[in-house]
Order: sequence, then C-alpha cells, then structure tokens
Amino acid sequence: MQTHTLEKALKHYFGYDTFRPGQRQIVEQALQNRDLLIVMPTGGGKSLCFQLPALLKPGLTVVVSPLISLMQDQVDALHDNGIGATFLNSSLNSWQVRHREEAILNGKSKLLYVAPERLVSERFLPFLDLVKHQIGINSFAIDEAHCVSEWGHDFRPEYRQLRILRKRYPDTPIMALTATATERVRKDIIEQLTLHEPNIHIASFNRKNLYYEVRPKHKNSYTELLWEIKQAKGAGIVYCLSRKGVDELAFKLQKDAIKALPYHAGLTDEERAENQTRFIRDDVQVMVATIAFGMGINKPDVRFVVHYDLPRNLESYYQESGRAGRDGEPSRCVIYFSFGDIKKIEWGIDQKPDEQEQMIARQQLRRVIDYAEGTECRRTMQLSYFGEYFAGNCGNCDNCCSPKPVEDWTIEAMKFLSCVARCKEKFGINHIIDVLRGSRGQKVLQNKHDELSTYGIGKDKTAEEWKNLARSLLNQGLLEQTTDGYAVLKLNALSWEVMRRQRSVSIAIPKKETTTLAETNLKKAGFELLFDRLRQLRKQIADEHSVPPYVIFHDSTLKLMAQVQPQSLAEFGEISGVGARKLEQYGEIFLAEIQAYRQEQGLAVAKSTTPNTTQLITWEYYEQGLSIEEIAQKRNLQPSTIWGHLAELIGMGKIVDLDRIIDPERQQLIVKAIKEVGVTNALKPIYEYLDEKVNYGEIRLVISFMRQGIL
Ligand code: ADP
Ligand code: ZN
Repeated sequence: MQTHTLEKALKHYFGYDTFRPGQRQIVEQALQNRDLLIVMPTGGGKSLCFQLPALLKPGLTVVVSPLISLMQDQVDALHDNGIGATFLNSSLNSWQVRHREEAILNGKSKLLYVAPERLVSERFLPFLDLVKHQIGINSFAIDEAHCVSEWGHDFRPEYRQLRILRKRYPDTPIMALTATATERVRKDIIEQLTLHEPNIHIASFNRKNLYYEVRPKHKNSYTELLWEIKQAKGAGIVYCLSRKGVDELAFKLQKDAIKALPYHAGLTDEERAENQTRFIRDDVQVMVATIAFGMGINKPDVRFVVHYDLPRNLESYYQESGRAGRDGEPSRCVIYFSFGDIKKIEWGIDQKPDEQEQMIARQQLRRVIDYAEGTECRRTMQLSYFGEYFAGNCGNCDNCCSPKPVEDWTIEAMKFLSCVARCKEKFGINHIIDVLRGSRGQKVLQNKHDELSTYGIGKDKTAEEWKNLARSLLNQGLLEQTTDGYAVLKLNALSWEVMRRQRSVSIAIPKKETTTLAETNLKKAGFELLFDRLRQLRKQIADEHSVPPYVIFHDSTLKLMAQVQPQSLAEFGEISGVGARKLEQYGEIFLAEIQAYRQEQGLAVAKSTTPNTTQLITWEYYEQGLSIEEIAQKRNLQPSTIWGHLAELIGMGKIVDLDRIIDPERQQLIVKAIKEVGVTNALKPIYEYLDEKVNYGEIRLVISFMRQGIL
C-alpha cells in the first residue's frame, strides 16, 4: 500500500491522524493476508488493527468476541463512524437474526461480531459457507484470544473449538488479539488456533499516560479521595475489597454530592446492568465496586482508578488500574495502602484449604507490598513483574515526581525491637508505642510496663512516626506479627541482628500532605470552561441517540476542540478524532457551541452570514416543503443534525417562519419553559421541565428565534 494511503483511510474512517505504535505495520501485514498474533495492553488500540483492514479488503471480516456487551458497544461506535457493522448473539430474537443475516448476504456489513459458541454451531457454519460463497470472508479476528488457553486468566472451553475455522477455511487469514502477556499463553494461542507462521507483535506494556501513586491510608483518606474525585474531569472507578465496603463508600460519596453507584456480586443482575449502563453513559461519575466490575468494560474515558483497599496481586492491579485512560489521555491510578488491609488479605489466605495455593497467594501479596512500600519508579516495578525492563525515572509516578526521603532509623528500630522483647513478645504495635512514649494508660500500668527500661525512651517521635517505623519493619521482614486475630508482635532472627547492631535500618518517610483546598479551587482556564460545555453538549447528543458519550467524540477530541476552537467546518474536520462522517453529523452543532462560547467571552468570532453547502442543501429541501424527518432521511443524516442546520439558518436570518416547523402552541409552551428554567447551555433541564414531550431540536430552534429577538 502506498505511503499515506493508509493514513488517509485512517483519517477518513476514524478521524485519527497517526497510527499508534505497531498499528500501521499490523494493518499492512493484515492486508497481505498474514496470520497475526497481537499482544497489546488494554487501550493499546487493538480493535483498529482488524477494523481498518476490514474496510480496505473486499468481503466480510468475522470478529469473535466473548462478551455481548462489548459487541453492542463496538458496533455502535462503528456505526457512528458510518461503517457497516453488525453482531449476532443471544440478545436477538430469531426474526432479528434472520434480518441481519440477510443484510450481511447483501453486503451491507464489513464487520460481523459473533460469540464463539454460535460461530462453530451446526446451524451457523452453513451460513458462513454461504457468506464466503456470495461475498467472501476476508479474515477472522479472534479477540480476547487468551481465552483458548488454560494458562490464561479467563479460559473458555468454547474457544478451543475455534480451530475448526482453520480446517474449514484454510486460506482465510486469522488475527488473534490479547492483552495477556505471558509466554505460555502466547504459545498456546498459536497452537490452539493453528496459526500459520504468524507475525507476532508484542507491544510494550508501559501505559505512558497513566500516573501511578500509592498513599498511606489513614483517617483523612476519605477526604483525600473526595478531593481526587472532585478535581477529576470525568469518570472513575473506586475498588474496595468487600461488598460492605463498597456499599458504605458509595453511600458516603452520595451524601457528599458525588454521583456514585455501587457494583458487586450481591446486587441483582438487573441492578448491576443498570448501574453499569449509567456509568458508561456518564449519568454517574463514580462506580464504587468490588473486582466483580470491569471485565468487558470498554469505556475509554475512565479518568481515575482508585484502589481504596489493597489489590491482591500485581497482575490484577495492572489489569484493574489499566481500565483508566484507554483513550491515551492522562489518567490517575492510586492505591490507598494500609497495614490493616494486609492483615485482611492474609486472613483470607489462611482460609484457603490448599497449602500450595496459600503459598502462591502469600508470594503475590509480598510483591504487592513491595510495590506499595517501594521507593523506586512504580512503572519500573510493574513492568519488571511482566519481565519487561524499564529504565526508570518515568516522570509520571509519585516516586519519580516527589521522591520520598529515605532515612536511617537504626537507633529507633533498636529501641522499638527491644521494647517488643521487654514486653515478652505478647503485645501489639499500639501498646509498644504507648510504652515507648511513656503513656500512663491503664494497660501500661497494669502490666507494670512503666517500670521497663524502654519506658518513655521514644517521646521524641510521634505515634504516627513510630507506626510508620513498625510497618516498615514488618514489611522488610525485620519483625513478625501473629495472624490469629490479635496481631501480637514477634521477633525473628533478623530482629536480633538489628538489636545487635549487625544490620542497619532505612525507612521511607512519608511526606506530609500538601494539597490544600485552595489548590482545588484553581481558577478554571477558559479552555476548561469550553471543554465543560462541549462535554455537556456531547452528553445531550448521546442521550438523544441512546449511546455512550464517547461514541460521539472522545475526550481527547473535545480537548482539541476547546484548545483550537475551530471556526469553520474545514478547521473542524482537521481535528484528530473527526472523520468524514462525524464532521457531517456533528460539525455544525459543535461549531455553534464554540461560537456561542466565544461570543459570551467577547472573543472574535468568524460570523458567517452565508450558509455553507450542507446548510444550503437542507435549506433547499426545507423550502421544497419537506419535513425534518424527510430531509434527514433523504440526506442520510440524523434528524438532530437537520435541526442544527435550521437553527444555524435562523441565526443567519434565513428562516423566519417557525410556525411551519413547530406549531404555535408548542412554541408558547417551550418559550414559557425556557423563561422558567432560564437559558443555559444545557437543554436537558428544559427538556425535563416539559416532561420530555418536545424534542431537543425544537428547544434549540426556539432558543435561536429568541436570540434573534423574533419570539
Ligand atoms: P484495546 O482493545 O487494545 O484495549 P481499543 O481498540 O479499545 O484498545 O482502543 C483504545 C482507544 O484508543 C479507543 O478509544 C480507540 O478509539 C483509540 N485509538 C485507537 N487507535 C488510535 C489512533 N491511531 N489514534 C488515536 N486513538 C486511537
Ligand atoms: Zn516513575
């Protein structure tokens, strides 16, 4: 393929200017009908690797996908880019299935999404033969390909049957895609799917746009979390260990005016589906969830993932935190780390019946603790877990951005450990600290611990500082703690080495929190004001079409709009994320919003008084007496786009006759509602005020007329 031809296609269909790392080569090889194995982290941009070739090759691309919810999502997004795609799964009745099959045979679709069990069924394979015969099958794309492997984290037996595809269609290339990194799974995929000399692409698992941080969990953590949520521009997930934890936190956040919903296995299927949809549609900002949430969530604009409790192992942490920022925009991943959580997880491990399992779980927990306690680059630590070397100093994690000072606390450690010894290894952390700090508490006096030589020798440090030391000693294995529920401190061989001065002790000193409320109230830049407005507009349009907002435009695209502030359709079309179809569908209405914003801010606007081509076409049909629905149908555009054109034409004084479009009684109703609610840039309150009896287009037109001073 000629240079630039692929880039042109990329811009035309998807609106992007450049390929992500690896994508171009993959697309080229797919066009050469090679078998391919693609290993890319979540958010790496796997879908495009089969979607773009699908559009450039004759025939149909069959995509195998295990999750019904994802099919709907991907197909919605493709439709919004004007691409013919469809899915077949158990959510459809037999009439719908037949209808879709017919459409496929008529060549209406370039991509077909289908679940593995259907694909290999007796009933479906003959249909596939027919497709091959009539329009051709250009390739199979097997998404979540690790499901074929028992070594992967999500083995599905029905994936094993996919090998039948190779037998039945030996010449049709297969592309397998996964985000699971291990060597073992890779080998398994190639064998099980009988890939033929596949080109293997393994992308780096470094997610550059994710910021990683670990914070100590203490009594102010909730306030910090609240701050985190409030200053985030967009949606986020907060993971908790237990259902109870989820319910409590969700409730608390709701009381603090955060739109949050819970998600865990204790809710009914309907409740879970409902909460998930509301999250995906941006009706709520925060999903508070157990790890039951996330598989099959394709939301690209999750701006933060917080682990309010400690994750169980680093692999799952990578996957869970990886749900942030799939769109490549900066996003935050924060763990709140407390010693209590370690105890909870350890307790859970003790309950496991199998000793081998216990051992593995303990090792994994150890790695999580090392990660949380670690003072080197978080990215280096994570990637080394996957066998990937990263040089460090990423500039996008807490340890790189604000290194914690490491101090020599050998003397203090000696004091602490000998106090444990003097108390005969029968007490927990708090009691030892009480003795060190010379408390006159009942427990201290009763045990005559005020008579110990270590009594009161630690008054120079706060209780919190001693706790930090104790935690660090435990995590470094220089001290032990019983796990039978009492958490009694015990010495080990290393403890004695410290006390005998054979070993020094360094610990990381946590920084005092410096974020103040003043910082949160940072004056919003103009850019952000406009970004907010564009988000609201996107939400309205998404609601009108019943799709998630990111299907309309991604955050990154809205940000560019807010930065560039295009003033013409041509400029608008230049923006990354605006393809041909989106330009046609949404160009006008977003331009109008940007223009309105610039007017209010007293900025120069390129006020056009002459309609452009697309407005002219609409105007002509309108003059011919066609209704809005008819115009939309004729032009193969959404009615909302036509409504937008009319609003523009009104703004230019080209249309003065509103009665033809909206009958006068309705006009009065809307005018009254607008006066009651007040005109803002959000139409929803007006729409709701009118009990959803009028449509958004009508409201928009009436506002245009009012602005013209006609109504
Ligand atoms: P994966 O399946 O690997 O998790 P997706 O295919 O969902 O990732 O892509 C992640 C996000 O990146 C999507 O929102 C997609 O639209 C976007 N994306 C993919 N390729 C590009 C590109 N070349 N330029 C900009 N954004 C892209
Ligand atoms: Zn770093």
